[in-house]
Amino acid sequence: MKINLILFGPPGSGKGTQAQNLAEKYNLLHISTGDMFREELKAETPLGLEAKSYMDNGHLVPDSVTIGMLNHRVEVNPDVDGFIFDGFPRTIPQCEALDALLASKGQSISKLIMLVVDEDEIVKRLQKRAMVSGRSDDADENVIRNRFQVYRDQTTPVYDYYATDGRSTKIEGVGNIEDIFATLSAEVDQLV
Ligand code: ADP
Repeated sequence: MKINLILFGPPGSGKGTQAQNLAEKYNLLHISTGDMFREELKAETPLGLEAKSYMDNGHLVPDSVTIGMLNHRVEVNPDVDGFIFDGFPRTIPQCEALDALLASKGQSISKLIMLVVDEDEIVKRLQKRAMVSGRSDDADENVIRNRFQVYRDQTTPVYDYYATDGRSTKIEGVGNIEDIFATLSAEVDQLV
């Protein structure tokens, strides 16, 4: 049986780091839509250039663009043991599209795990990350607060969407990386 995880939480909650570790431990393919957009942008593809203005302002890239890109990435990787989605789905239409895509392969989301981190901690972390990541959306406090607002308004419903049948769960996202990874692993172990 395949395991398909959603790692969920606000920007800067540590999804990227933990998703990478989980992908390695459980042999899953890590798909980060944020990373994919940044790669497209670096390569100056039409998709990257379209995404740029949204990303720079801390807004979501339109669903049609994001869903198309995600579907393609899943379709070209049919042989993996499962996926770990990081930064996707971020809206209810993205949830519906993901469910439909997986259902077409006889699969589904196994679990959504949320990393809980409060807004002030997020602002601190992202400003610190800006110094090494070079990400312009991390450098500006207004853009960070805007991303948090978008998360609250448009993305938190994703948690509730998978909570209706008990697939959503929350864990503490503040603490040391190894401890958080151990808690995450315990959640995943319940599935295997
Ligand atoms: P973070 O989680 O730190 O906000 P990401 O790297 O996940 O950063 O995303 C960076 C930007 O890419 C977002 O602010 C948004 O503009 C865009 N993006 C990423 N994933 C999605 C998505 N699923 N839907 C729409 N836009 C997205």
